[in-house]
Amino acid sequence: MVHFTCDLCGKDLTASADSRFVVKIEVSAAFDPNQIREDDLDDDPMEAVAELLQRDADLSSEDLAAHAPKGFRFDLCPTCRCKFVKDPLGREFVKLFDFSQN
Ligand SMILES: [Zn+2]
Repeated sequence: MVHFTCDLCGKDLTASADSRFVVKIEVSAAFDPNQIREDDLDDDPMEAVAELLQRDADLSSEDLAAHAPKGFRFDLCPTCRCKFVKDPLGREFVKLFDFSQN
């Protein structure tokens, strides 16, 4: 039997599948860094491809990883689901710990 716990409060949700909520978040670049735009083709197409390859070569593996889509999946109990939908990005929480204004 698959065991489920709330990823926020740790409550055991295994026996209450009807009150378990799943949060799926995917973060991906709003642009495709490998896409060749029409602007790129105005000049020499081979030059554009060469530039693209050079750009990829200049990116470190960390840069590439930063652009790769990243997915998250969380199980939540009904109580934590309510908290999550009110503030999905945790902005209130971030404000509490934002000391940069001091
Ligand atoms: Zn919970």
